[in-house]
Amino acid sequence: MWSPVVENGTLFIDGKWRPAVSGETFATHNPATNTVLAQISDGGLDEAREAIAAASGAAAAWSGMTAYSRASVLAEAHRLMMARADDLAALMTSEQGKPIRAARNEVSYAADFLLWFAEEAKRVYGTTIPSARGCQRFFTMQQPVGVVAAITPWNYPISMITRKVGPALAAGCTVILKPAEQTPLCAIAVVQLLQDAGLPPGVCNVITTSHPVSVGKCLLASETVRKITFTGSTQVGKQIAADAAATVKRVSLELGGHAPFIVFNDADPRHAAKGASLVKFLNMGQACISPNRILVQRSIYPDFLETLVQRVAAMRAGNGAEPDVTIGPLINNQAIFKMERHVNDAVEKGAQILAGGRRLSGGSYDDGTFFAPTVLSDVTPDMLIYREETFGPVAAVTPFDDEAEAIKMGNDTSYGLASYIYTRDLSRAIRVSEALRFAIVGVNDINPTSAAAPFGGMKESGIGREGGREGISEYLETKLVGLAI
Ligand code: NAP
Repeated sequence: MWSPVVENGTLFIDGKWRPAVSGETFATHNPATNTVLAQISDGGLDEAREAIAAASGAAAAWSGMTAYSRASVLAEAHRLMMARADDLAALMTSEQGKPIRAARNEVSYAADFLLWFAEEAKRVYGTTIPSARGCQRFFTMQQPVGVVAAITPWNYPISMITRKVGPALAAGCTVILKPAEQTPLCAIAVVQLLQDAGLPPGVCNVITTSHPVSVGKCLLASETVRKITFTGSTQVGKQIAADAAATVKRVSLELGGHAPFIVFNDADPRHAAKGASLVKFLNMGQACISPNRILVQRSIYPDFLETLVQRVAAMRAGNGAEPDVTIGPLINNQAIFKMERHVNDAVEKGAQILAGGRRLSGGSYDDGTFFAPTVLSDVTPDMLIYREETFGPVAAVTPFDDEAEAIKMGNDTSYGLASYIYTRDLSRAIRVSEALRFAIVGVNDINPTSAAAPFGGMKESGIGREGGREGISEYLETKLVGLAI
């Protein structure tokens, strides 16, 4: 089985793996068993500055290569990722916890971004623009923004990296990656794969660290770093945007969500409940596009709940490495405490627990951080779960009476990432899609994502788009050339 090499250290700077100058390390764990998987080099400010210098030093040669040459490295990285897919999935399950089938899907989704942006690299076009003056010509060219700092979360520990690094490299940028502390091995595996695919030294550097604030501030304060791309919580994203302002960096933010999942009474409630059970419990609810408020029209509310509860009760929680497990562990104890806080608050304010509702204990559950898949009914707007991002396996269901009320309730949040509608009425599907203030709408569709489609948020869910034609433009500057003739 292929696995990442960590003996020489896990900082990757200027094409070399090495330990931290301080000699410090931190441990990465399996959340299902609480066992230590590896010791990770704990980089700090010295290493961050060296990585910036390496990325800056490699920039001219990398951006000077033809798009075809850059594309061939990304295409080879795609091939290697698919060749190592089973091993990468097993690594992800052990470090992040998601069930093995879901991990395999993520690896394939992650690889798609490498190939998609290998192809997009060759389609970075300029324009010619008519001038009002006969003696003048205008044309534009697209150029890489330069050195990029990328900060990624633990919940999708491979695809959140390729979704940033793929387009950045395709555009001709060089990168310093700071992956999440909980999933450094997944990041190391991706970068090893880029190295094996022939990426030149310095083009992609990795700082593994348990000091995200100081390393983040160092990257953000640097005048050499011209772009920050961040995926994580809205709270940290706001700080990053504020810090980036000092050097007027380009900013892409993929932040939290609070997706409404709206089921109208012209939809089949059983089909909709099946969809809700699949997307809500994806990655144990630890997904930015996870439905946080399931809104169901009153006349089909009982049928919807009956199917949802049946499906949730049939889910099997355990170590994601076991083939029939559908609910893995949460990432850590803080996540469990948040589930308890949301469930207890909802129950105190009148919600009913129809399934789960508690931490799982006894036997091997005691080693990990498991929370029973949970269904709450009669959730109301005064409850924490209706307002805060839950990020866990708790489905919160609320009835509504008509379309206008559903739209109002759906939009009643500062977030604007994903939303879902179930209806068989085409006019309603279009009307409601237009009215929802969310950047992604799934109409009878629980998987409205693809490397070929723009992903991102409105409002406090973020700035910019990843994937699709838009994804590469986040890493390009438009330069205008005016020519007097
Ligand atoms: P987080 O706490 O914001 O952390 C995200 C990343 O930022 C990690 O690498 C973290 O490092 C680092 N970080 C934390 N504080 C920092 C600071 N002050 N300066 C610089 N970096 C800092 O988020 P998370 O808990 O890992 O991820 C869950 C969140 O991500 C949820 O809100 C979810 O909705 C969102 N998310 C959004 C998308 C999207 O596409 N919109 C996709 C996935 C996840 P450490 O790991 O060392 O703390």
